[in-house]
Amino acid sequence: MFSKTTYTITINPKIPPRLERLEELANNLWYSWDRATRMLFSRLDPVLWSAVGHNPKAFLKRADESVLLKAAEDPNFLTTYDSILSTFDSYLYEPSQRDKANGLRTKDQIVYFCFEFGFHESLPIYSGGLGILAGDHCKAASDLHLPFVAVGLLYRQGYFSQTIDNQGNQRAVYTDSDFEDLPVSPVLHDDGSEVRIQVALPGRQVTVKIWMAKIGRVTLYLLDTDLPENSQQDRDITHKLYGGDKTMRIEQEIILGIGGVRALHEMGIKPTIWHINEGHAAFMIPERIRILMRGDLDFDSALEAIAANTIFTTHTAVPAGHDHFSEEMVQRYFEPFYRELNINHETFMALGQTASSKDFNMTALAVRGSRTHNGVSKIHGNVSAKICQDLWPQIEPEENPLAYITNGVHVPTFLAQEWTDLFDRYLGYGWRTKLCDTTFWQQIYDIPDHMFWSIRQSLKSQMLFGIRDRLAEQNTRNHGSEAHLDRLLKFTDPVNPNVLTIGFARRFATYKRATLLFENLNWLRKIVLDEEYPVLLIFAGKAHPADVPGQDLIRRISQIAHMPDFEGRLLLVEGYDLRLARRLVAGVDVWLNNPIYPLEASGTSGIKAGINGSLNLSVLDGWWEEGYDGLNGWAIKPGPENMEAVVRDQEESLALYEILQDQVIPLYYNRSKFGYSPEWVRMAKHSMASLLPGFSASRMVEQYLKNFYYPASRQNDRYRSDQFSGAREIAAWKSRIRSAWHGVEIRRLDIPPTRACFNDILHFKVAAKLNGLTPEDVIVEMLISRQYKKTRLSNFNHFSFEYTGIQEQDAHIFELRLSPELCGKQEYFIRIYPYHTLLTHPLEMGMMVWM
Ligand SMILES: *Cc1c(COP(=O)(O)O)cnc(C)c1O
Repeated sequence: MFSKTTYTITINPKIPPRLERLEELANNLWYSWDRATRMLFSRLDPVLWSAVGHNPKAFLKRADESVLLKAAEDPNFLTTYDSILSTFDSYLYEPSQRDKANGLRTKDQIVYFCFEFGFHESLPIYSGGLGILAGDHCKAASDLHLPFVAVGLLYRQGYFSQTIDNQGNQRAVYTDSDFEDLPVSPVLHDDGSEVRIQVALPGRQVTVKIWMAKIGRVTLYLLDTDLPENSQQDRDITHKLYGGDKTMRIEQEIILGIGGVRALHEMGIKPTIWHINEGHAAFMIPERIRILMRGDLDFDSALEAIAANTIFTTHTAVPAGHDHFSEEMVQRYFEPFYRELNINHETFMALGQTASSKDFNMTALAVRGSRTHNGVSKIHGNVSAKICQDLWPQIEPEENPLAYITNGVHVPTFLAQEWTDLFDRYLGYGWRTKLCDTTFWQQIYDIPDHMFWSIRQSLKSQMLFGIRDRLAEQNTRNHGSEAHLDRLLKFTDPVNPNVLTIGFARRFATYKRATLLFENLNWLRKIVLDEEYPVLLIFAGKAHPADVPGQDLIRRISQIAHMPDFEGRLLLVEGYDLRLARRLVAGVDVWLNNPIYPLEASGTSGIKAGINGSLNLSVLDGWWEEGYDGLNGWAIKPGPENMEAVVRDQEESLALYEILQDQVIPLYYNRSKFGYSPEWVRMAKHSMASLLPGFSASRMVEQYLKNFYYPASRQNDRYRSDQFSGAREIAAWKSRIRSAWHGVEIRRLDIPPTRACFNDILHFKVAAKLNGLTPEDVIVEMLISRQYKKTRLSNFNHFSFEYTGIQEQDAHIFELRLSPELCGKQEYFIRIYPYHTLLTHPLEMGMMVWM
């Protein structure tokens, strides 16, 4: 062997001055939803574009100088380039009407924390739904011109790339990103030095570098510990998303939560509204308290002050899915905090403990450290209210402060180019500003059927091309023969995309039941083997490397895909990512989702499919329970929650086969002489028109703004003004209530009437024993409603009693005069709860005494 040294040198092209702003375009993730920008790069060198995984920044560093020089003189290219830049500039710099109308004050600044962000495949710091939702939130915040920054971690290796072998074994491949190639840059001080902060972990200080990424108008700050000054162990903290053990997880969460707050401080950013997206970032709460306590604020007042302007969104419907850490672990990491917060171990632990566990639960911490909390669909809001009900022990889940805002998707990102072009022509360029306007989208029905259908077919062709490429690659790697590949691609014909194609792609988490469709293989055979009406099934998704049952699902699907009957009719495609997702949701005819009710918090891929004219066939769970209107897709009604799993799978798969065989297939193949099914087209149009306005990220962020951000900003003012007098007042009041509440009682003084005439004035009278509280500290209230079979608390009308000024012995007398507005038998309740005008939610104390 010769001993020799390998030297490497990287040669970057010089960007011609005429094209110098390509660098700006490559450094703003605006390209993740502006397809014209992506096409501009791809046009320069399609082969390189594909080789660099559609990453503009990596592309520019490797493009041939001659290609760039030629483009700089190509009038066609320059026209497109100039027009893109002018759109880019007006997007970034033109004020919008909304700037004034968004209800925020000039000093307002929203910050959004999340463990993962998914904008585009070129920034691989996401794993699935949560990250993509966070990415869409940022994009919509940019579209709406909100004063918005985000904070996350810059993972060296991100999640993982997936390959699947012939036996269906998933292989997880981790590769280091070269940050120079990512659309990120280090944040610099005025003097040009890099911004760094320190975070203490047991026995050491970890240095954290801050990067930034531009998402249109929004800036995302990303924290990175992979620095030479840190030990290898600490460098690894920001290596893998959802990799490693509990120690790794708590350290990641400390870097994100505590490091994130320090980073903002170091950069001079002073948020007035803090949004915690999923519990991972909740350690921001003790850190923010710590900072406030460096003034003369006590712990309780500081907690009130920071909670008042904090919003927490939970995304998990499975209690076990909420992060939690052992008591011993929390002590090890947070003991130094106790002194600074002036509290003992028990008080700190109490921030995260629940009635059911002594572990420190990040969801509990996030709820206690925020005054606005929500789930991500109506069903999930209810589920979360139940999961968290112990945090408001005397309040029924239905009434507790855990609300919901249903997820949406960023339409410009997920709507296929063909639709965008068609809308530009048919609806005018302004459609992008009318995303939430239901009436506006009625115009979709005016698109001629044949035109609509030809776009659907063209999207399907493109998708099938993409699938063929991936499968060919997969086959080569797995040493499959040409003949095998031919058999595999028998029904995947982009030239003739007339086979009904059903897509299922998402994380292979067991509750998503990827194999429900294979419950009864004989029935499925009958369905897909039909000569005249064939069906193609496409499956894709990743299972977490530690999720063994999830990986078993992949093996099972692979096994079925290899059965002679299913070969070519069931395709398992590896490497599910944003790129494959965009293609699949736009290209398939039917998007299938069959989770176990009520575990799908929201689900968003079905929305992406629906807005592209694919039809959803899903269990009525998550967003679909709100999106389904009887005509825009198909629904599987879930059995009751307590149903045995085996029975549920049987019944719901039965429903699935019946819907496929009796509805989906006949409708799809009921083709007119023009080659398509007019009823199918009508349904697809309806899917777009009904789902696009209701489930866009614009609608979602507008709701966050109106219902949460704006009120949080007002609360922030009330609590902070005058040296935090509001926070101090509410903290003192709560402490008084907590110590007295156990002795509060109410007793009725009038004789309950059983019958009255309409228009009669009824007179109710109660005595409230307040145990040292004053009548101003409480609300005595009647809830009244007509009696229904199942009356929900939200159906009741509320009437407050008035304090009479009379005190008898140890009780205060309250009265209510009421003339019921309805006839018939009515049901009413009387109750008392603590109330203060500074509260964010009237029931946030979690206290209530019913008569
Ligand atoms: C939209 C999306 C998801 C989330 O899909 P669900 O329906 O919520 O499972 C996951 N991964 C990718 C790549 C996506 O684009």
